[in-house]
Amino acid sequence: METDILIVGQGIAGTVLGETFIREGKSVLFIDQGHEQASSKVAAGMINPMAFKRIKKSWMADELLPVAKSFYEYLEKKLGQNFFLTYEILKFCGSDEYRKFWDQKSLDNEYIEPAREIHRNKLLENDFGFGRVTNCSRVVLTNVLKWYREYLIEHKMIIEDQFDSNKLNLSENTYDQIRFDQIILCQGHLGVSSEWFDWLPLQKTKGELLRIRAEKIDSDELLNRGFFIMPAGNDEYLVGSTYDWTDHTLAPTADGKKKIEDKLASFYKGPYSIIDHTAGLRPTVADRRPLIGVHPDYRTLGIFNGLGTKGVMLAPYFAKQFVGHILYGGQLNPKVDIKRFN
Ligand SMILES: Cc1cc2nc3c(=O)[nH]c(=O)nc-3n(C[C@H](O)[C@H](O)[C@H](O)COP(=O)(O)OP(=O)(O)OC[C@H]3O[C@@H](n4cnc5c(N)ncnc54)[C@H](O)[C@@H]3O)c2cc1C
Repeated sequence: METDILIVGQGIAGTVLGETFIREGKSVLFIDQGHEQASSKVAAGMINPMAFKRIKKSWMADELLPVAKSFYEYLEKKLGQNFFLTYEILKFCGSDEYRKFWDQKSLDNEYIEPAREIHRNKLLENDFGFGRVTNCSRVVLTNVLKWYREYLIEHKMIIEDQFDSNKLNLSENTYDQIRFDQIILCQGHLGVSSEWFDWLPLQKTKGELLRIRAEKIDSDELLNRGFFIMPAGNDEYLVGSTYDWTDHTLAPTADGKKKIEDKLASFYKGPYSIIDHTAGLRPTVADRRPLIGVHPDYRTLGIFNGLGTKGVMLAPYFAKQFVGHILYGGQLNPKVDIKRFN
């Protein structure tokens, strides 16, 4: 069996990268073991162009957003499914000082509007008003990954199995019986133990989320007050998330639940019930930039990982750049290139 590209991992990184190769006319084969707690299956899937602490655009937002929008809309058409939802985020100010800072920043930031409004819902703590963030969206990741997998199965483009590094022969470019031109590892947090890329500073950052039912929140918009409340349909909301750099287990914790509930209680005074509590490990890097590139000794082995907290927004732009790099010798942004770690 032969393929141009062999992709290990069908989270959002592998899915977007593989599909980007397909759009360039390449044959692609995926290997994925079906990790139920893959970060992509837990994530809220939000695209937010703002960094709220300093009230500035998040890194490369102007470049990333249009590529992400066009990619996900294209994939919706290809799969004949709807999973790319557009939102506004309502950013609630925690103090008068923050509101003034927000208003000042809104003068020269096209993604945010001044915090002139008070929310109609009296159950939300809203002493200092909120500002709107435009150009936000959500990719319903569990759905798109499921639908894309069905497409791969139907077209015999996926091996549903664990990738076994003993079967990889990089001098002959084969994996088991499969001959490839390029193999790319998109393993998320499981890439931490990769024997070829163990010199990269990939880390695991645990995140937990609650799914709640709360009729009285009554919002079609995403609410943020240092944490987010994201509408998920039928009076359900995703609430989170937490950040833990020390616990590398996949189990949801009582501590994580308490942290989220405490934040929720400080903002929303109405009733709710918890429907689900999930946890995942984000593949993060200390410099907060992805890990992309080809192995210094094996040109046919690549990595596309380290998408951190913003995988949904980053993946389409950098998949396009990486594919251009591999196929046509285009430049990789040095800030994401694994060469920065020698
Ligand atoms: C609570 C939480 C909330 C988040 N919210 C957001 C958000 O709102 N917006 C956002 O952009 N990001 C968010 N993230 C981050 C986002 O989840 C990640 O950036 C992204 O999912 C990483 O995708 P990935 O494909 O690299 O990794 P993963 O999703 O972990 O996928 C890796 C895949 O590789 C496969 N794999 C690994 N090793 C092997 C092997 N040996 N053999 C076979 N298959 C293998 C696994 O089965 C898996 O399918 C959140 C994360 C968490 C935990």
